[in-house]
Amino acid sequence: MGKGFFKVPIAKNEPVLTYAQGTKERENIINAYKGMFNSNIEIPMFINGEEVKSTNKETLSPPHDHKKIVGYYHKADKDHIEEAISTAIEARKLWANLPWEQRAGIFLKAAELVAGPYRSKINAATMIAQSKTVHQAEIDAACEFTDFLRFNVQFMTEIYSDQPQSTNQSWNRIEYRPLEGFTYAITPFNFTAIAGNLPACMALMGNVVVWKPSDSQIYSAKVIIDIFKEAGVPPGVINVVYGDPEMITETVLSSPDFSGLHFTGSTFVFKDLWKKIGERIHSYKTYPRIVGETGGKDFILAHNSAISKQVSAGIIRGAFEFQGQKCSAASRAYLPKSTWPEIKKNLIKELSSISMGSPENLSNFVTAVIHEKSFDKIVDYIERAKKSSDANIIAGGNYDKSKGYFIEPTVIVTTDPHYETMGKELFGPIITIFIYNDSAFKSTLELIDKTSEYALTGAIFSTDRYAIDMACRGLRNAAGNFYINDKPTGAVVGQQPFGGARASGTNDKAGSAQNLLRWVSPRTIKETFISSENYRYPFLD
Ligand code: NAD
Repeated sequence: MGKGFFKVPIAKNEPVLTYAQGTKERENIINAYKGMFNSNIEIPMFINGEEVKSTNKETLSPPHDHKKIVGYYHKADKDHIEEAISTAIEARKLWANLPWEQRAGIFLKAAELVAGPYRSKINAATMIAQSKTVHQAEIDAACEFTDFLRFNVQFMTEIYSDQPQSTNQSWNRIEYRPLEGFTYAITPFNFTAIAGNLPACMALMGNVVVWKPSDSQIYSAKVIIDIFKEAGVPPGVINVVYGDPEMITETVLSSPDFSGLHFTGSTFVFKDLWKKIGERIHSYKTYPRIVGETGGKDFILAHNSAISKQVSAGIIRGAFEFQGQKCSAASRAYLPKSTWPEIKKNLIKELSSISMGSPENLSNFVTAVIHEKSFDKIVDYIERAKKSSDANIIAGGNYDKSKGYFIEPTVIVTTDPHYETMGKELFGPIITIFIYNDSAFKSTLELIDKTSEYALTGAIFSTDRYAIDMACRGLRNAAGNFYINDKPTGAVVGQQPFGGARASGTNDKAGSAQNLLRWVSPRTIKETFISSENYRYPFLD
């Protein structure tokens, strides 16, 4: 550290802009979207601070207009991955020794670049690549990413200031060393903020990183790289590679210097990665840290004291914003028989007002799902529900992939609480509802707890404090993020640290100091002022 105990700015959440008619931000985003949609961008990899091209190029197309090509990206071969690893290890010599305040300066600057000059660009890229509405892009790419960068700097200083007690005879200190070797970030398509945060928070703590973004998020990943570069992340500290995930991962995990995996994505992939790391455990120089946030089968439970309109609004926002492609999206609901008719009436009425289409038209609430594979999978479930005697589709159920991968917000009501869409993560705009007898509230808690392997998010709607308390206790292990009278989505950095247990992940809470602690290896230093000159203790005399 330099000469002073420096204080960092107190982190504040970035305000969400409205994009209402007549606002400057609305004009800016429309212009940025049009410009980027009609350009033909070339996206190289980013290794050792250099743009790296290969002979293997792939096209980029928006999910809502899949015949339109907006650019190309370059895919890695094994040599690129090996270069990214050796570059990172070389960069570590300087980066791991850089005083923390210099690292903080870089990432605080990155936060202001996201919130300011890059705001329209990162939002427009997220609208194009991931088909987010402007509001969904704003809360993710602009605000959550800015929040991660700001809050992580503050959390880092809180960690560093956590020091042991000392005595007059000896001074005890802990230094929070970065991990030895290099770390590996694998990120999902659905949040630009997560894509940026996973490599950034490891680098902030002094680590060097190989980052592999999702193929479906590369357009917005490119904006993140431009921001890191402009903020002053030195060459080799964060290296970005695209391409075959298995080849890239095999190469990374084969290195004895691999020291940590920061993953967000699906559960099966994460478990497979854990297994691969375990199989190679004897080859590593250190025990790799493994952090993974994965799938969910998130629930809404309404008690018969709940206000029906609040329940239907929670279902619509929780299940259908971003087409249900949030790990936290509500995808199963348990509603009481007595108030179901009223909730149903509101739900169907409200859903009939939702418009679907390209995010370029700002009045659309629902856009396309991410790719054809996902579209086909979701459609299979809808078709099976149409044929099942246990399921009844009461809203939506239509789809069309001729121009983009559009699926209507779909509500299935089932008489079987273990119907297939009650337990599996579909990652699309479908919610399945089970109606319970009002008197079975307590046993419904048990049903919710036991139905799925996941435990990510969940919500209780009720105005009865005894029912709320019963749900809080009965569902203690069913969700890592639990909401009372709110939808189960929309966690805010610094306010609701995010993550779930069971099959949903290691629950290391993105957007908290707990997560950052996984990327350091503390060293305890004891300094004794007057050392003994005689080995004998008094009891020996
Ligand atoms: P995904 O698992 O398909 O892909 C995630 C990343 O893993 C991508 O970069 C992908 O290329 C890579 N990958 C895929 N197969 C791989 C393999 N065999 N080896 C190594 N890497 C591989 O997930 P997705 O579709 O991008 O994202 C959706 C999933 O992510 C959902 O399950 C969702 O619940 C989860 N998610 C969880 C959280 C959370 O905080 N819990 C947040 C966002 C998303």
